[in-house]
Amino acid sequence: MRWKRGRRSQNIEDRRGMNTSARGRGARRGGGMKIGGGGAILLLLASLFFGQDLLTAFTGGGSAGGLGGSLGGGIGSGQLAPPLSQTSGVRDNDEAGQFISAILADTEDVWTKLFQQAGQRYQVPKVVLFEDGVNSACGFTSSAAGPFYCPGDSKVYIDLGFFRTLQEQMKAGGDFAQAYVLAHEVGHHVQNLLGVSMAVQKKQRQVPKIQANALSVRTELQADCYAGVWAHHAHKDRQLLEPGDLEEGMNAAAQIGDDALMRNAGRRVHPDGFTHGSSQQRQTWLYKGLESGDAQACDTFNSQI
Ligand SMILES: [Zn+2]
Repeated sequence: MRWKRGRRSQNIEDRRGMNTSARGRGARRGGGMKIGGGGAILLLLASLFFGQDLLTAFTGGGSAGGLGGSLGGGIGSGQLAPPLSQTSGVRDNDEAGQFISAILADTEDVWTKLFQQAGQRYQVPKVVLFEDGVNSACGFTSSAAGPFYCPGDSKVYIDLGFFRTLQEQMKAGGDFAQAYVLAHEVGHHVQNLLGVSMAVQKKQRQVPKIQANALSVRTELQADCYAGVWAHHAHKDRQLLEPGDLEEGMNAAAQIGDDALMRNAGRRVHPDGFTHGSSQQRQTWLYKGLESGDAQACDTFNSQI
């Protein structure tokens, strides 16, 4: 990726090196929306550790008609971000931090443009960099759960160590694979602004687990599609992609598919337990966004997935 020449975002909260303990705090259900990789192999361990099923922690996907993919869905779900507090970027010599800052800036530019075109205003999310564990409006979350977005505070949370796991354990290396992870979480932020997250959460509380999982899959696939929409415009407007980037993204989407994760964890592949979609589904929707650059093409709630 040609990310170095791009502008940087100041909407980064660097909490690395801060001592965060889970003690006295319960990891809460109804928390973040994850990429679906994030030490997913460690996820079961984490689930055992916290005594709850992080695999089904909030995700969602409401069949709420017309919400999915429509930028006309309307902002005003009543859960928008609180006013920005302190802002801090990252140090010049912090390459990993600079990368996040550059990709975040690019997602800001793309989504601001797309919201504007739809007559809406894009409210930028913050990205929190942390190590080991972090407290958010979604409770305490261990790094083992992977990157996530918390709708309650409109922030994306990433332990950069995840990218090592992604490359070494999940065989999904490359800068575009990492950018896809961030853009997927930003995709959840877009869903939050459009009111999708809330509609889905509400619906999920009313249905059996299998259906709640199915809604989760549709939500996650839409976030994948939105990641593709971002990449489409980043390339069209700023020629961000280099040869090989597309392949890195498609490979990452395959490696973090639920079937691949289950297989790699030595578990039986059971589609009812999918929360993020199969490898093929994740590739399909990432590609749909990449190819079209159109958020309307990401209506996973009213499409065959
Ligand atoms: Zn996700």
